[in-house]
Amino acid sequence: MLYQSTRDKSVQITAAQAIAQGLARDGGLFVPSEIPALEPTALEALAKMNYQQRAVYVMKLFLEDFSREELERFTGAAYSAPGFDTPAIAPTRPTPDGNWFLELWHGPTCAFKDMALQMLPYLLTASLDKTGEKRQVCILVATSGDTGKAALEGFRDVPRTKIIVFYPKDGVSDIQQLQMITQQGQNVNVCSVIGNFDDAQTGVKKIFSDEALRQRLTEKGYFLSSANSINWGRLLPQVVYYISAYCDLLNAGRIAMGEKVNFCVPTGNFGDILAGYYAKCMGLPVNKLICASNCNDVLTEFIQTGVYNKNRTFYTTISPSMDILVSSNLERLLFELSGKDDQLVAGYMEQLNTRGSYEITPALKARIDETFACGSSSEEETKDTIRRTFEQYGYLIDTHTAVAYSVLQRYQANTGDKTASVVVSTASPYKFCAAVLEALGKDATGSGLDLIDMLSRQTNTTGPKPLCSLRGKTPRFDGVVDKSDMIRVVEDFLQ
Ligand SMILES: *Cc1c(COP(=O)(O)O)cnc(C)c1O
Repeated sequence: MLYQSTRDKSVQITAAQAIAQGLARDGGLFVPSEIPALEPTALEALAKMNYQQRAVYVMKLFLEDFSREELERFTGAAYSAPGFDTPAIAPTRPTPDGNWFLELWHGPTCAFKDMALQMLPYLLTASLDKTGEKRQVCILVATSGDTGKAALEGFRDVPRTKIIVFYPKDGVSDIQQLQMITQQGQNVNVCSVIGNFDDAQTGVKKIFSDEALRQRLTEKGYFLSSANSINWGRLLPQVVYYISAYCDLLNAGRIAMGEKVNFCVPTGNFGDILAGYYAKCMGLPVNKLICASNCNDVLTEFIQTGVYNKNRTFYTTISPSMDILVSSNLERLLFELSGKDDQLVAGYMEQLNTRGSYEITPALKARIDETFACGSSSEEETKDTIRRTFEQYGYLIDTHTAVAYSVLQRYQANTGDKTASVVVSTASPYKFCAAVLEALGKDATGSGLDLIDMLSRQTNTTGPKPLCSLRGKTPRFDGVVDKSDMIRVVEDFLQ
């Protein structure tokens, strides 16, 4: 199976080429030229497998140029103890109201980005071998928090790779900063940038477009790449857990084979929910994919009206990983739903670039309505959901998961839809202690590490080991640079 660009479908390359290249030269994103079908008996077979075996089965369908043995090796290494604290890897958990939570935060950094970033380094380095790339890759990341740490853990000590993470000096939480500056590994570097996330991101973009630097790095045997969710190698591992969750509900007797389920997904860059869409296209029995936003509700408005408009106020919320105005992966959905109309998609993206908005055709809007529902949750509703869920069920959820649960409950009340529903739970509540404590009506003053202890005491729950063990760790990285000096950090590290 080959891969094509969303802005020019005549581009046809292998999976390894798509993963090695990341972004198409025309600016489009790579998508599979056909979507493999889950054969009718496949779900029965998958239901009997463990998570790693499910991952091999699903990924092999999309990666013809990878062998089964390779994928077994990758999944065995990516999804295992001690990185993951449960053999289920992505466990599902019912609540008394009949809904289920798919917990995607049992990995080394306690957020769902581990599901993809534990796998991406293996897919990427194998893709470099397969495409004959001789240089080493250096991953550059500008992060507002979760992605940086997950990428560091994923790439740490992976042969043929180096990674540099830039974070805004005053733009991440205490815990997030500690997680990054105590990072282990011989091939990693972490540096803070004076300014906000935009400054760090602009700096990284500038480095990527520096032609002279590219030349110098090639002479030293390096090239630069990114680890963000436009890479197919980051999206594919996410398709697995939708299918795995379905199998878990089957095994638990919650649904019968073939019965449809809803998934409600806290959405930012549209990567997570898009993976659910691909699972549906493969034949997974899905009724609705419910796209949940916080008050940055550009996607909710888009799904309701067919108009995508990024010209709006940007809000900083208690669910920061969803604070986003341009959801890159939406481009892939538009391509698939328009019957692969690459010119239409290229036109929309051009309008987004020049005017900051575009409006899709009524036909395309109707296709979206068939599969997607949506909703947004205010800060108050999100906090209220955390408190109610804990008081009623003794189950503690983080702010992003609470956005989704809040949206799902409103959807169910408004539509009367009785379909079995899964909330995609994307982070441990211990990653967002202050907001969670506040939601519970508790005092939340103190430093990051103290808040972990406070949340633990107040709720009688145990924090995840990777966060609790930060207390004993010595910082390794204390670099602070001006935006204009980021390039020097890169050159010094790649001597
Ligand atoms: C990144 C992230 C999201 C949003 O996922 P997208 O794939 O960007 O839509 C939601 N919750 C958490 C905790 C995240 O880290």
